[in-house]
Amino acid sequence: MGSPAKISLLCPKIGSLGQGLGGLPEITWEDVAFALATMTGNNASLFARVKYGSQDGLRGDLLNGFRLEILTLAGEKGWNIPPDKDSPVLRVLSLSALVEAIQGPIICKTCNGTKYARNPKKPSEVKPCTKCDGGIRKRGAKWHADLNDITRYRWRAIIGAWESQYKEIFGITERWEGAIRKAMGRGLRY
Ligand SMILES: [Zn+2]
Repeated sequence: MGSPAKISLLCPKIGSLGQGLGGLPEITWEDVAFALATMTGNNASLFARVKYGSQDGLRGDLLNGFRLEILTLAGEKGWNIPPDKDSPVLRVLSLSALVEAIQGPIICKTCNGTKYARNPKKPSEVKPCTKCDGGIRKRGAKWHADLNDITRYRWRAIIGAWESQYKEIFGITERWEGAIRKAMGRGLRY
């Protein structure tokens, strides 16, 4: 099982806590831990403990729970994916999506996430940033390939066939983030 260890290497520590919870830097692990008392025994709570509490020992359980939720979603949507949580495609999609959700979006350095870039020669001229998609940069094939111990070719083949499903998988982690915010009593503030 090399995968959970890799999540550990890529996990943000306390510094990105605010970013993941909507950009409020004052949120501390204590806030999240307090909220967790009301949400025991589900995947959202596991996700909170791994993402915000760096409780690395729970990574395997979280990945397992995520795979089962993806399979449930796949059943509802009629995706043609093997109903086996250890199938290679599911292993790759779930690990990539989980680590992306834990790390959070990569803000574009060219436009600082504003979606617009200035022409350095004409500072008054502002154009849509061409380096990103809405201020966010996509992680590249190399990142996914290294994470999953596969070739870039293999990653491109998988994502080429499963791109729309891959995007839908993030609905699961977004629901977890929503449950965490709700448990913190801050749901209406975002
Ligand atoms: Zn940009």
